[in-house]
Amino acid sequence: MQHIDTSVYRSRITRAQEALRERSIAALLLGPSADLTYLTGFDAHHSERMNLLILPADAEPSLVIPTLEASLVGDAADLVTLHDWADQDRPAELAASILGNVAGKTLAVGNQLWSAFLLRLQAELRGATWVEGDSVLRELRMIKEPVEISYLAEAASLTDLAWEEFIRSGQISGLTELQALQRLLDISTAQGLSKASGIVGSGPNSASPHHSGDDRVIQSGDAVVFDWGGRINGYFSDVTRSVHVGEPGEEYRRVYEIVKRANQATFETIKPGVPLQELDRTARTLITGEGYGDAFLHRVGHGLGMEIHEEPYLVEGNDLPLASGMVFSDEPGIYLSGRFGVRIEDTVVCTEEGGRYLNNATRELVVMK
Ligand code: ZN
Ligand code: ZN
Repeated sequence: MQHIDTSVYRSRITRAQEALRERSIAALLLGPSADLTYLTGFDAHHSERMNLLILPADAEPSLVIPTLEASLVGDAADLVTLHDWADQDRPAELAASILGNVAGKTLAVGNQLWSAFLLRLQAELRGATWVEGDSVLRELRMIKEPVEISYLAEAASLTDLAWEEFIRSGQISGLTELQALQRLLDISTAQGLSKASGIVGSGPNSASPHHSGDDRVIQSGDAVVFDWGGRINGYFSDVTRSVHVGEPGEEYRRVYEIVKRANQATFETIKPGVPLQELDRTARTLITGEGYGDAFLHRVGHGLGMEIHEEPYLVEGNDLPLASGMVFSDEPGIYLSGRFGVRIEDTVVCTEEGGRYLNNATRELVVMK
């Protein structure tokens, strides 16, 4: 599989600096985050010790890093100047000395920098105006490069294989929700996905979109919703499939078909230039027309990449136009409180010709034992 080499990171850094200049921002400050990894390849870990990338608009990037972690930087050391600090040092002062006088300047700070670090930096960097950093990298990260799409496609197809194996893996009635989920995650790991994780809801719990799974024993007559994924080279899959244990009743079948049609209709709306909110509207109009509008409790989708939820969000009010290279989920759902829920979630990519499903595991109604 293709490797992301230093030249790719260098060009991302250059484009990020262009974005800073366009916005008259003097520098971008990032803690451990997908943003940091996106720009440098360095996957720093969160801890009480400050790790901070300083990316000035017009100068080479610096990385403030605890001495004991400096050897973990790897190839990213070619991209940044390392400023390491020992435990008795004050890293916020070190960061301030790198930035110099910032009075009257605007600094962007990554949305995932811990507030304690931000407060210490603000105490040292007097007179600056602070803005959220998400806007700087959003446009870059939203449009996936071919290598990123290949990782996402690989993660999606391994997740599909795991699902096809799971639905043939024997009965799930008698298992607790968490036992059934564990079986699916073990299969996903065996398929080659790393850090597989997910949520599950059975019976009435399936009507709660983010029920994470507990010791409820799955039984015949239950609807079950599995929402899970894993990673390939740091890029996520995110899939939901809904099954019925034992023969479903008429309303479950009807609801299942509506959700499946809403997933397909959303997919067919994908085209460069279409406002993102149109995708949510398409699913919502269809589901509302069938009488279940109040039971569609969430937006129809979210961007996916180095984070499970990232820009762009497919939600009413977002009139940003779709663009080739955007990767996001298509996940309508209907949740009937106290009874059952159905969600069908796939990852799709917007191409010049329209949408392309990265997931192809069956969307037909599956009855398990
Ligand atoms: Zn999901
Ligand atoms: Zn999702």
